[in-house]
Order: sequence, then structure tokens, then C-alpha cells
Amino acid sequence: MLRWADILKFAKYSNPEPPRRLEQSEAEWATQLTPAQFAIMRQKGTEPPYRNAYCRSYEPGVYACVGCGSLLFDSTTKYHAISGWPSFTQPLTKNAIRYGFDESHHMQRMEALCNVCGSHLGHVFPDGPEPSGLRYCINSEALTRLDQATD
Ligand SMILES: [Zn+2]
Repeated sequence: MLRWADILKFAKYSNPEPPRRLEQSEAEWATQLTPAQFAIMRQKGTEPPYRNAYCRSYEPGVYACVGCGSLLFDSTTKYHAISGWPSFTQPLTKNAIRYGFDESHHMQRMEALCNVCGSHLGHVFPDGPEPSGLRYCINSEALTRLDQATD
């Protein structure tokens, strides 16, 4: 299980090796993604709180990256964080997410990106419930929920 010390280490020294890599030009991303997805995933935007697809949705399933299909989160780690965005305590695998320090908007935050395609997903905060103590605050636009786990 990842904890905040692990996230700090990843961001400071080196992120876990992804299972594969997808690299595309921004022009390719612009044709593949919707304008809303592109603004969030490629330009580090944020969707409105509460008015997004998965904020209040707790159906079972696995959440995949809209950009590359990588499996990122399981519904069993999703919890009600009252933040306005879907929140998870843990990624599906230790190398699903890549981390980086984000000092934009006069804040010090930890950015969460898809480790396969490098798309912005949201942020991670050290104020989640135990035992991990993590809150992955993710934009619904970056996710698609698959009803059944795939392997
Ligand atoms: Zn991805």
C-alpha cells in the first residue's frame, strides 16, 4: 500500500516504471480527446466540482484512463470525500500513477498523472482515510468506468 512518504519519494527522486508508454503529439491528443478532456488532461485544467460524472457514483467497476485505457483505480477504494470530485485512497497498482510537484495557482500540490500516457488526472493529498491516509482527487473527465474488471 502506498502512503504519503512513498508519493514524496516518487515525486522527488524517480517515479515507478510504467507497464508501457504511450507518447503522442498534442495535435494527436486534440483529435482523440473531447475539448473538455483535452483542457484537463493535456492543459492541467480542473472540471467543476460536483457537476461531473463520477463524483457521487459508487457503482462497482474499474476506472481507466480516458487517454490510453490504462487501469487506474478500483471502485473499492473510492470514498466520499465531500470534495466535489471522485476520490480514491489508492491506485489499482503501484505503478499506475506518476507524481510531480505542482506549484501553480500559488499552491503546493502533488500532481497525479497517468504513468502510461502522461496525462494530467488530478492531485493527491495526505488527508485521506487510514490506513493509506491518501486522497487521490481525480477529474471525472479523465476517467472512464469499466463495469467489469479486465485482466
Ligand atoms: Zn493514460
